[in-house]
Amino acid sequence: MPVVPRAVVALIESFESLPGIGPKTAQRLTYHLLHAPQEVAQNLADALLRIKKEIVVCQICFNISEKTPCVICEDLSRNQKVIMVVEDPLDVLAFERTNFDGLYHVLGGRIAPLEGIGPDELRIKELLPRVQNGVVEVILATNPNMEGDATAMYIERLLSPLVKVTKIGRGLPVGGDVEYADDQTLMRSLENRG
Ligand SMILES: [Zn+2]
Repeated sequence: MPVVPRAVVALIESFESLPGIGPKTAQRLTYHLLHAPQEVAQNLADALLRIKKEIVVCQICFNISEKTPCVICEDLSRNQKVIMVVEDPLDVLAFERTNFDGLYHVLGGRIAPLEGIGPDELRIKELLPRVQNGVVEVILATNPNMEGDATAMYIERLLSPLVKVTKIGRGLPVGGDVEYADDQTLMRSLENRG
């Protein structure tokens, strides 16, 4: 018999495989759940399975949603003439806390040649039909780091013959992530776009 039960090892390893969780945290979470009531474990397991069962990708903006088109794309009270381009669904959440009321386009990452991620691996070409549909401005809101900037530059070159392209202001800390920026900073970066 192994010293640490196999079920415990399996859960520790599952936690460890997640981003931002090291061995210590993985162990702490596992032992916490071990002592937690049955329903805590049940709720966690249910929530995990639900995101796989109930979440789809919107076929217009490529954000995660319960249906496609998503509620943002379907909301005609939003400004249909402005599209903000972001890397990940969490960036949409971040900008939804600001006063931005346009539409989004989620790339699904950034151009990262060293990881084999080129423009074709992202939802970049899907932007073309969208901007030709009465859109007057595309706001690039990729993360302020080398790869995010390179991604923004690529899209700018592609779209600038078709539509006005702006970038969010550099109020964000360099190397920081859009998803972790506070609301005020995001709001400022949006106002200072150019
Ligand atoms: Zn959508």
